[in-house]
Amino acid sequence: MKPFTYTGLPTRVVFGAGSVSQLAAEVDALGARRALVLSTPGRAADARRLTAPLGARCAGLYDKAVMHVPVELAEDARRFARELGADCCVAIGGGSTIGLGKAIALTSGLPVLAVPTTYSGSEMTPIQGFTEGGLKRTQRDPRMLPKTVIYDPALTLGLPPATSAASGMNAMAHCVEALYAQDANPVISLMAEEGIRALAAALPIVVKDPADIEARSEALYGAWLAGIALGSAGMALHHKLCHTLGGTWNLPHAETHAIVLPHAARYNRDAAPEAMARVARALGAQDAPSGLYDLEMKLGLKMRLADIGMPADGLERAAELATQLPYPNPAPIEQAAVRALLQAAYAGRRPA
Ligand code: NAD
Repeated sequence: MKPFTYTGLPTRVVFGAGSVSQLAAEVDALGARRALVLSTPGRAADARRLTAPLGARCAGLYDKAVMHVPVELAEDARRFARELGADCCVAIGGGSTIGLGKAIALTSGLPVLAVPTTYSGSEMTPIQGFTEGGLKRTQRDPRMLPKTVIYDPALTLGLPPATSAASGMNAMAHCVEALYAQDANPVISLMAEEGIRALAAALPIVVKDPADIEARSEALYGAWLAGIALGSAGMALHHKLCHTLGGTWNLPHAETHAIVLPHAARYNRDAAPEAMARVARALGAQDAPSGLYDLEMKLGLKMRLADIGMPADGLERAAELATQLPYPNPAPIEQAAVRALLQAAYAGRRPA
């Protein structure tokens, strides 16, 4: 066995259908009296309804969360939290909303209680990307790790099938990269492989029957494992590419992950044979990159960067940006090879 280091991340998890009913008790357990509730504009009514039991412990709602946390938005939300005298953040939503909670925690130290309603996995990580001047930079800081996470699969029943599928593949990308990351370790690899298995089993059912609570539970369980994997083991070329495409071209986060993943796996396949064997085993496929691609086809996902707003004349620049200051990666990072990967993802070709 290769030498490794492992650091457990201390987040309390409350999991199960209906568990959002424990929100007020969990806020109390944090010792908080003035919770700032966060949401996206579209989910504000739900956030209000779900936090009604907090009564006077709800100090206010900030409902402007968007993808990739623009630094100006982070500053505005921090100002709002200070003005309210908030002593905790309750983030109800996907990675965008949870990211905003982390942005507040980064400078104030306020505890974050996250109630995820997508499969992004952000709630289990001390990592956050911030965008400024058209570039996304990723920061890691223990203050951003949510103190408590309530996983209630019932809150995901309304997540549209296409968003569910893309978000689930975002989670799967965390698991895949955790298996070959520079700081991979045996414990996280167990979780990552199980995360892939759970997501691959659940997502086709979720897409067919979005109201299937068992499948929703299994998908959310996979997302939880994926979040731990991302937070504990690192990221590699796949995440670097998605951060570049999202930060500079504002491509939709989860869909970008889904499209790039089979190609990033293909890029690394021969350099990370053990990790790829585990991915393939968890997918029940012969080969990891094509297994990922085939699962995405089955889920009815968009398969081409061209279909989600990537301009053809941006591919060269994307290859350039993604190969500057690369994350550690099993296969050597070469600009021409990364350009070819992006071309394949742009066209949606099945990995050879
Ligand atoms: P999102 O949070 O932007 O949500 C996508 C859309 O779905 C939003 O309009 C949201 O309001 C809506 N939505 C959320 N839950 C819903 C539900 N249950 N029913 C109906 N609609 C719902 O998308 P996301 O993919 O979860 O998050 C993307 C962001 O998260 C990006 O900014 C990304 O960088 C970040 N992220 C961070 C990490 C990390 O560890 N830091 C990990 C993954 C993603």
